[in-house]
Amino acid sequence: MGATGTIDWDKIRADFPLLRRQVHGKPLIYFDSANTGQKPECVIAACDDFYRRHNANVSRAVHQLGSEATEAFEGARRKLAAFLNVRADELVLCSGTTFALNLVAYSWALPRLKASDAILLTRMEHHANIVPWQLIAQRTGATLRVAELRPDGSLDLPALYAAMTPEVKLLAVAHVSNVLGTVNPVAEICRQARARGITTVVDGSQAVPHMPVDIAAIGCDFYAFTGHKLCGPTGTGGLWAKREHLQAMPPFLGGGEMIKEVRFDGTVFNDPPHKFEAGTPNIAGFVGLGAAVDYLSGIGMAAIQAREAALLAHASEELRKIDGLRIFGSAPEKAAVISFAIDGVHSHDLATLLDLEGVAVRSGQHCAHPLLQWLGVGTTCRASLAFYNTHAEVEAFIAALRKVIRLLA
Ligand code: PMP
Repeated sequence: MGATGTIDWDKIRADFPLLRRQVHGKPLIYFDSANTGQKPECVIAACDDFYRRHNANVSRAVHQLGSEATEAFEGARRKLAAFLNVRADELVLCSGTTFALNLVAYSWALPRLKASDAILLTRMEHHANIVPWQLIAQRTGATLRVAELRPDGSLDLPALYAAMTPEVKLLAVAHVSNVLGTVNPVAEICRQARARGITTVVDGSQAVPHMPVDIAAIGCDFYAFTGHKLCGPTGTGGLWAKREHLQAMPPFLGGGEMIKEVRFDGTVFNDPPHKFEAGTPNIAGFVGLGAAVDYLSGIGMAAIQAREAALLAHASEELRKIDGLRIFGSAPEKAAVISFAIDGVHSHDLATLLDLEGVAVRSGQHCAHPLLQWLGVGTTCRASLAFYNTHAEVEAFIAALRKVIRLLA
């Protein structure tokens, strides 16, 4: 399958059993994929099959099941690495973006940063890409610096580059904003940072599920992502890091699996990426994530991106026709995330009444308090779409929204 035109999207939607259910007696319209993605049958089946037929711990047992489990887990690592165009031995498997960013914070930043250093962030970061750096800043005395946005919700790139002064040792930036949908030009940003000797961390949570991502082409030092937004199980994700960093970084957590030899007078650590994978991992989860990657590759990430762009254009056009509705984020490069508010209506009321119509949207601050402060709103509603949504659902969502607005007026 290549172009969107040749893909039967209704058939693809039918792969997602949960999307067949009803809520409050209405067909479910799931517009909360930026929060977590739904899972196709093949992912659910892969987890089920693992527990039914192969369940054992990894890298510990010589018995048949142990080697099957290890092969399945390492196979998932190889699939993810190929999907993201990186080396498998540079891909640390972990519970998700939050863990991945904390790993960089504690293993890379904490031992290196000094009071005279600065960490550069952007206004649009998720709390997972703010709070770990704040904690490191408190421990090291380093300062946090924030790059601001343009009114359309895109990064003010000249201001960002001007903020890259010699004190800045680390830049942490989202690939795609979970509130505004803005797609940041991370390859160019990383090129600018690299030219100034700044280490780069990209939060890819909202990018990897929605577009082809080639980490090697981005040229960052670290790239974090989450599996549960990628049609995979919860508690899965990864951190890609340059080998030189993985070699130099001390382990974050100690325990089994991450060692070669333990004596009371000292421990020899395992090679990366295992050095950073203490304890029993979410084996079945990664088997499921491997199946998710196969599934998404079968459709093609470029086709998924084009499909979601069409859904975004449709929904945005209809939303713009509603009086008193404001959309936050209109950057030229935008993923299918639409944050909006309606004058005089609380987002929680809106989301609660939409839920009664079968429509699942998120309301609140979306783990991005500094961004919401900048937007000047307490909360927003967020409709986030995925390739398994339909144009008919967009129409039904708009009809439900108009009905709810009439009720609240
Ligand atoms: N960064 C962004 C941009 C996100 O959208 C999210 C999830 N909402 C995270 C980080 C955190 O991901 P997780 O909760 O899977 O660790």
